[in-house]
Amino acid sequence: MKKAKKAKKAVATTARTSRKAAKPARSRAKKARRSHDALLAELKARLAEIGDLEGTSAILSWDQSTYMPAGGAPSRGRQSALLSRLVHERRTDPQLGGLIDALAPYAERLPPDHDDAAVIAVAGRDFAKAVRVPARFVEQFSQHGSASYDAWTRARKNNGFASMRPLLERTLELSREYANYFAPYKHVVDPLIDDMDEGMTCAAVRALFGELHRKLVPLVRAIGERPLTDDSCLHGGFVEGKQLDFGLGISKAYGYDLGRGRLDRTPHPFCTRFSTGDVRITTRVDPDDLTEALFSTLHETGHGLYEQGVAPALDGTPAGCGTSAGVHESQSRLWENVVGRSRGLWQHYYPELRATFPDRFGEVQLETFYRAINKVERSLIRTEADEVTYNLHIIIRFELELDLLEGRLAIRDLPEAWRARYQSDLGVSPADDRDGCLQDVHWYSGRIGGAFQSYTIGNVLSAQFYAAALAAHPEIPAEITSGRFATLHGWLQENIYRHGRKFEADEVVRRATGEPMTIRPYMAYLTRKYGELYDLTKVTPA
Ligand code: ZN
Repeated sequence: MKKAKKAKKAVATTARTSRKAAKPARSRAKKARRSHDALLAELKARLAEIGDLEGTSAILSWDQSTYMPAGGAPSRGRQSALLSRLVHERRTDPQLGGLIDALAPYAERLPPDHDDAAVIAVAGRDFAKAVRVPARFVEQFSQHGSASYDAWTRARKNNGFASMRPLLERTLELSREYANYFAPYKHVVDPLIDDMDEGMTCAAVRALFGELHRKLVPLVRAIGERPLTDDSCLHGGFVEGKQLDFGLGISKAYGYDLGRGRLDRTPHPFCTRFSTGDVRITTRVDPDDLTEALFSTLHETGHGLYEQGVAPALDGTPAGCGTSAGVHESQSRLWENVVGRSRGLWQHYYPELRATFPDRFGEVQLETFYRAINKVERSLIRTEADEVTYNLHIIIRFELELDLLEGRLAIRDLPEAWRARYQSDLGVSPADDRDGCLQDVHWYSGRIGGAFQSYTIGNVLSAQFYAAALAAHPEIPAEITSGRFATLHGWLQENIYRHGRKFEADEVVRRATGEPMTIRPYMAYLTRKYGELYDLTKVTPA
């Protein structure tokens, strides 16, 4: 509030000054600068208010997922709805649009990587999108999402797809309606993808997934012919507090700053940002499964490092957060898998893990543990899938979404289509819908379309970014074996984190790696790592 008042005062001062201004060109230039300075101050004040409302809303939902007693639910629902409405009003305020338009000529004169140019451009894109969708529809879609989510929590338990059918049919209708606010488009899913992965299109995702599918299926098949890895050392009897401390220890070593963050427990782990100074992560703990808390913590740490690394100058602007869901996921995957499941990291941390759980790991060799945390298995559940099969789960979902949106598949036929795709791609088929098309929350709490591609884009980019970091700093793997991560973290900070949303994903990738997104480093990474783990001679690196 204070900031907004200050900005208005600045506008008034400029107006007074301009009346008195003299004729010479130098004075006119000075006047123009003053005027855009004032406009920019007002724009930033308005954006900061929107950012603060969004941050407040994020605090409420963090609290709801962590410590809020059940009795708080009704009032929290009202409080969150009120904040969403206030945010939407401010995001679509015509005066905000006016300021963005008035500043466009100024932004055009700036170098494209100037902070102000980026803030004006990002604000412009966000505004153009927000005003396309009527407030009535936003509210309707959000109410439907809550009702559907609520019904799904029960339907999943009872394997009740039939009860979800009408709700899911409505979700499909609303998802198409949402896309239609952005017509004309090349593909109905394009606007839905663009919300998560700005700049990406159905055609680009299809090309990427097609290539990946062709290369992954033979790799998965070859591993499937090898004996199944024994991962029994990871199961049974791990004290919860010790699990949390151990994961957080690695998180801190990665560079996650607890002065500007914290770790709490939730049923569904996530990372949330209130500002650059407060980026929180959550995890869940299973006393019978060591991998649950450990890898959820490392995954969310990757998201947290990205958000903590955004340049403070962008804080309070719409450019002050990660650039896309796909690039975000590349960071969680990089720290969880590429680093967190590497032999090098465990050469350093395994003795500490053994000392933490001597009863469990006293007799287990490092190599057995390393193989266990990298076990590949054709399975039914996406969230439990390994690095190699994970993307097949995503590709199945993406293609089913397209079939639904294009009208080639009816909701009533979804369970059967799901089973058929799992059988053909993974060679397994769920006995019921609980382990089939009812397993993921995405379609049941939001929209159909645009929800899944980011995970695979993230996997692909995790290897591409890591390869680029290694090309610049070949000493990184050796550092990891001694528990040092500063060089890798520093490279990511410099090339990705600090930019926030200043550049769209495609440009971040080009700037950081020198080329557009490619599956080459990812396939090389998988083939090398799993070729060695499963003794594969037939599958040559891509
Ligand atoms: Zn993630």
